[in-house]
Amino acid sequence: MDIRSADRANSLEEHWMPFTGNRDFKENPRLIVKGEGMYYTDHKGGKVIDGSSALFCSPAGHARPEIADAVHAQLLENSYSAPFQLGHAGQFELARKVADLLPEPMNHVFFVNSGSEAIDTALKMVMAYHRANGEGQRLRFVSRERAYHGVNMGGVSLSGMVKNRETFPVVMPNVVMMRHTWTGKELFCDGRPQHDGVELANDLERHCMTYGGATIAAVFVEPVAGSTGTLVPPVGYIERIREICDQYGILLVFDEVITGFGRLGAPFASQLFGVTPDICTMAKALTNGCIPMGAVACRDEIYETVTDAAPDNAIEFFHGYTYSGHPAACAAGIAALDIYEREGLFQKAAELAPYFAKAVMGLRSHKLVRDIRTIGLMSGIEVHPGAAPGIRGQEMQKAMFWNGCHVKFTGDTGIVAPAFIATEAHVDEIVDRFRYTLDQFA
Ligand code: PLP
Repeated sequence: MDIRSADRANSLEEHWMPFTGNRDFKENPRLIVKGEGMYYTDHKGGKVIDGSSALFCSPAGHARPEIADAVHAQLLENSYSAPFQLGHAGQFELARKVADLLPEPMNHVFFVNSGSEAIDTALKMVMAYHRANGEGQRLRFVSRERAYHGVNMGGVSLSGMVKNRETFPVVMPNVVMMRHTWTGKELFCDGRPQHDGVELANDLERHCMTYGGATIAAVFVEPVAGSTGTLVPPVGYIERIREICDQYGILLVFDEVITGFGRLGAPFASQLFGVTPDICTMAKALTNGCIPMGAVACRDEIYETVTDAAPDNAIEFFHGYTYSGHPAACAAGIAALDIYEREGLFQKAAELAPYFAKAVMGLRSHKLVRDIRTIGLMSGIEVHPGAAPGIRGQEMQKAMFWNGCHVKFTGDTGIVAPAFIATEAHVDEIVDRFRYTLDQFA
């Protein structure tokens, strides 16, 4: 079909889709017309189980009426008010609720509209802190190979994924990379690998030795690297990173855009690993994916240092977005966090995790499967590459959709991460459809 000559009312051409093969998609679109609980309905009437909580956004499942009602009521009450020099109750309530889920002393929350904005905000928060603290010479940032920190220019600068940066070479200077944590020594690992944690984390110390620890502003890590295909940090890794940061006065930023809000069975990865960062980014499940929203939380000391450094009545942090803390997003966030608490969803995720791990590991004997990594309700099922890296993954994602299951692939790794409302039967259904699709490609 020549889609350019198609009836304009049904044309797909005008929308330039993100992270999508536009030409291919528009030849054979996959449109979602409805979402409810664990399932989508596609435009041909097919039922599709959601194996990835959309993009790891919807722990409470799709189309929750409690969230829809809260947003509806909010839009009738106050549909929008400026976030600079004005406030509304929802911002403060949601900030308190988020702070309650974080470890002490992370009690200050700055609202943004996405994970990418959270990362750029965190970069600026780090700079503002060091400047206010009399350490403006800390201008170097440390990130990691295979890192995904969103797509704004700050996040691209920290990115360790080649496709996300090779087209956009004008990025922040002074970013150095640690090695990623997948060594290939421990394949089919359920939980944290046992080896090399301290050795890999010592990359940070090597950067301190090479560049001078006092020139490094912050290190950004995803506690579990998500978008690159679920790389679980080895035992001792996160702990050692924290130790080095403390030794050299470097701020530790956890990017919890995927791991935040229960994905690993604890509210945040920091509680699971027993390591508290200085700054933490989050988004996605903050509103159960219903309204775009992200946030950056920080320790008291960071907030107080930045705010105390400015003269009385002055704006302390020259940063913010028109839609920071949008009333509708706050209403969605409050309603989502209420559901998580009322239904004990983080606990449910923790309880389902062992069954989930066993079920996905059931695919290990398939000849197409190269590795499986799993923690909490998040796994990476990596297949051997086809003609070129990523091609088989793309094809599998499409085929799996028509086989009745949505799984987000990154390269050749399918990231299975169901909603926390999933039952064992849902997990079985997702894994069965994955296996069926593997068989089609074998
Ligand atoms: N950071 C991490 C760890 C992510 O996984 C993502 C998105 O997947 C982002 C940042 C960017 O979030 P967004 O797509 O909302 O900008």
